[in-house]
This record gives sequence, structure tokens and C-alpha cells, in this order.
Amino acid sequence: MTEDKPRSHGRLAISASRQPRSLMDGPPRLAKAWTAKVLTLFPQAFPGVLGASLTGKALQEGLWALETVDLRGFGIGRHRSVDDTPAGGGAGLVMRADVIGPALEEAAIGTPGPAEWPRLYLSPRGRPFRQADAARLAQARGVTMLCGRFEGVDERVIEHFGLEEVSLGDFVLTGGEIAAQAMLDATVRLIPGVLGNAASVEDESFSDGLLEHPQYTQPRVWNGRAIPDVLLSGNHGEIAKWRRAEAERITRDRRPDLWDAWQRRSRE
Ligand code: SAH
Repeated sequence: MTEDKPRSHGRLAISASRQPRSLMDGPPRLAKAWTAKVLTLFPQAFPGVLGASLTGKALQEGLWALETVDLRGFGIGRHRSVDDTPAGGGAGLVMRADVIGPALEEAAIGTPGPAEWPRLYLSPRGRPFRQADAARLAQARGVTMLCGRFEGVDERVIEHFGLEEVSLGDFVLTGGEIAAQAMLDATVRLIPGVLGNAASVEDESFSDGLLEHPQYTQPRVWNGRAIPDVLLSGNHGEIAKWRRAEAERITRDRRPDLWDAWQRRSRE
């Protein structure tokens, strides 16, 4: 049988330790690490890519925590059914309100209101998820994310819980899990201590409204292409000027929408 208890990843969520506190290395087990609660039919898909590299290390270190809630555990009847045919007819299956509702209620236990703990439904109908959303989530105490499957969830669940619908982009995925992992990755890297070099967050794409300038590293010449001289000049003023001009050029050429918004803001 599928387990119906939330599964936890990351050191913080593990309650018992055989070692006395004083002998443990790593950061203390703060009870209040930033926590993502993810409701999904596929808890085995987590932490997924979030378990790798910097987000994975931070999860191990308890800088953030991840709990999955297995929606199957809330299924109805002997077959633990979670979906049914759409009212009004048509193709596909819809996730039942009386399955998703109790799962969201369980996930809400011990979490504060939506200002401190946003509740998201991953959905192609949602507002596009942006860097500002990642920043907002990182500043909250945690987030609850509902991953849909099939044709999505019964509308009444979204209304009843006041779920925020957010989209990964203008395309349709088979489920919300990849979208949840993408948004969690963007969020978790903004939690202090997760990235080694915090400065790199400040001047990267989107954070000031411009896309990032090109980056280069060794070797100086590769396949006949040299690193722009200015970057090797040691003149920090000139380097900053060049990077800014390149960021503006790239934003103007590739994202007229961002460029217009940025120009409007700089006129204000
Ligand atoms: N019938 C729906 C699509 C359902 S796709 C429609 O046309 O709007 C199944 C599930 O995948 C959704 O419930 C949602 O959780 C997830 N999903 C699909 N595309 C997504 C996207 N672009 N962003 C976020 N989640 C998405």
C-alpha cells in the first residue's frame, strides 16, 4: 500500500539522532528551516534534481526542508481513486476535490497564513512564475505546492483554498512536478547560505531588470575566439561599463518586453 504520511527529505525533518547534539557536525537543527510541502501523486520524483549540487547540499545541511504529501494516500475506496471523469463530459480525468481537499488540509497543519506561507497550484493557466515570485517565496517561511496530473484539479479546490495559480511557461506538461522543482530551485538558491557566493545573485539576469552580460573564462583564446580585451584590462570601471552595455544590448535584442519595462523604470 502507498504510504499516506508525508515523506521528508533533508536532515531537519528527521526527528531522532543516535548521536548526542554536541557530537554532530554541521549547523544546528533549527526547527524553523524554510520548508516546501509538495502534494503529488509521484513523491518518488522528489527531491529529484533538487537533490543535486548546491540545492542538494543545502537540503542535507538543513538550510531548507522538503516534505512530500502522497495524494494517493487520500484516494477513495479500495483502489484509492484520485480522479474521475469531467462533469459535462469530454476527454480525460479530473482530480477530485474530496481527495485534494483533505490533503491540503493536512498540509496546512502547523503552517501560518498565505502571506507567510503561499499556497500554489502549478498550472498552465497560472500567472507566469518570475524571479520576483522566487524572491517572495524565499522570504516566506515556506510554501505549499499542489502538483496536478491528468486534466488538472476540480476548480472548487482552487477557490476554497484560495490557491495561487502559477505557470512555468506557455506550454503544457503532463504534471506539476517538473514545474514545482523548477520553481523550488529558483527559490531555494535565494535562501541565505545556499549559494557559496551571494554576490552572484545580485547581478544576474532579472534581478535588476536586465539580462546578464556574457561570461568568459580560461583559456584566453579558444578556437580562434579571444576574450574581449576590456575584461583582461584590470580596469574595473571600464569592465562595469562594458558589462552594462552588453546587458542592455542583449535585453533590447532578445526581450523587448523586459527592455521596455526597464526603460520605463529608469525614467521614473
Ligand atoms: N487541462 C489542463 C492541463 C493539465 S496538465 C489545461 O489545459 O490547462 C496536467 C497538470 O500538469 C496540471 O494540473 C498542472 O499541475 C501541470 N502543468 C502542466 N503545464 C504546466 C505549466 N506550464 N506550469 C505549471 N504546471 C503545469
